[in-house]
Amino acid sequence: TADLSTVDPEVAAAVAAELHRQQSTLEMIASENFAPQGVLEAQGSVLTNKYAEGYPGRRYYGGCEHVDVIEQLAIDRAKALFGAEFANVQPHSGAQANAAAMAAVLSPGDTILGLDLAHGGHLTHGMKLNFSGKLYHVVAYHVDQETGIVDMAEVERLAVESQPKLIIAGWSAYPRQLDFAAFRRIADQVGAKLMVDMAHFAGLVAAGLHPNPVPHADIVTTTTHKTLGGPRGGLIFAKQELAKKLNSAVFPGQQGGPLEHVIAAKAVALKIAASEEFAERQRRVLEGAKILAERLSQPDCAEAGVRVLTGGTDVHLVLVDLVQSTLNGQEAEDRLHSVGITVNRNAVPFDPRPPMVTSGLRIGTPALATRGFGADDFAEVADVIATALRPDFDSAAEQSLRARVELLAKKHPLYADLG
Ligand code: PLP
Repeated sequence: TADLSTVDPEVAAAVAAELHRQQSTLEMIASENFAPQGVLEAQGSVLTNKYAEGYPGRRYYGGCEHVDVIEQLAIDRAKALFGAEFANVQPHSGAQANAAAMAAVLSPGDTILGLDLAHGGHLTHGMKLNFSGKLYHVVAYHVDQETGIVDMAEVERLAVESQPKLIIAGWSAYPRQLDFAAFRRIADQVGAKLMVDMAHFAGLVAAGLHPNPVPHADIVTTTTHKTLGGPRGGLIFAKQELAKKLNSAVFPGQQGGPLEHVIAAKAVALKIAASEEFAERQRRVLEGAKILAERLSQPDCAEAGVRVLTGGTDVHLVLVDLVQSTLNGQEAEDRLHSVGITVNRNAVPFDPRPPMVTSGLRIGTPALATRGFGADDFAEVADVIATALRPDFDSAAEQSLRARVELLAKKHPLYADLG
């Protein structure tokens, strides 16, 4: 019964240091967020002790009466929030949700058509070292080199040529909305199933600020920890006719015992995501991303070789193109880190630099919006970023930008009750 700092001071110290890092810096990794205390509490609860293989009312273990209540709440809330006929809340992660979804409708060797990783797709959409690239025959579509927008003519051409069993629409690094109806039409044309991976933009969908893929797709997958702001994990949605196949693909197909403590945290996050307060937060997410895109499109940025891919954003992130800059993605990431802003470097489509270096940055606003940032704060952080990427950046600039970041962090305290 000893607490963490008594039983393991080394882990406790690293956790405390991570809390301090989150509190004192500005988190702008587009796939990250801050889970509210209720989510952390559910996830850190005694539910971690419980085995519950199976589904509510049909378990392979005794003593599941309380976790059944919790998992059913999560299922009902997930279905209601996204208007889905069916939901599976057990996938341990987004990758496992995708693995199960594909296993439910594909056999090894079948063809899948997904967005190229180098153009903003996810590893699980067919990258060669991932299960998806090893199990399935992968055909990749791309964005248009001029516009940076997904080339739907290419999607259609590749679909007709390769006759995929599954078309995947979704992305990890793309600043615009996809045309789900067009994907549906192409899938129907070639007799493919359509899966939308809304991991990145699920929070925007929940808030009604992004088209909902559920009416268009056979299967929709998501993570729960990005814009949705919940615990790390995955969800699968579908029409009722795929329910049995999907449930069986998750358990026993991919997983054993579900993480009921995480499922409880998902239930809490889904309740919050249905609130007006959540919708108001997502509006600030979008507003902040637009402010950032606008600031990074100003003449001083253009002179520094800093460009905004596609010229703007419709979602929670901005992709910065540094192909014309003397800074590469790694140097830009390090520079922002030195002033207290955390982002990740990201390959841009047709990137001339290698993947470990890259010529781009992916910068997201969800975590700062959760922290309470409004338009003025986003304008200030956008100016800090633009200034940090200039060629005249020196140690004096670093100091003054760091001070501006510290002021913003102080203005919006995070996890004040956690110490
Ligand atoms: N799908 C997309 C589009 C993602 O961006 C990600 C994560 O980055 C995933 C799936 C995988 O999620 P996880 O990291 O939980 O496996």
